Amino acid sequence: MPLSLALDRVILTRPCPNCGHQLKKQGVWFKAVGQYICEECRLFIVMTYPEKVELFEAHAHLIRKERLRQVSWVSDSDGRARHE
Ligand SMILES: [Zn+2]
Repeated sequence: MPLSLALDRVILTRPCPNCGHQLKKQGVWFKAVGQYICEECRLFIVMTYPEKVELFEAHAHLIRKERLRQVSWVSDSDGRARHE
């Protein structure tokens, strides 16, 4: 599964395995990063591709919410809102 473009500008959260500190970064940041230092406990954390996929899948519901919002803007030619 490729890492979705739809999460590039969405804030994703990843807890530190050591101290549980919630790291919050945009999806595009997680895509690019291979390793990082925990802001709280300074633990050196390696992030593998399968872990990125897992993180993106855990936030996939955020994409669906975004799509629903877009659908609600669509209306028929007579102005009635379409429900899809
Ligand atoms: Zn930490």
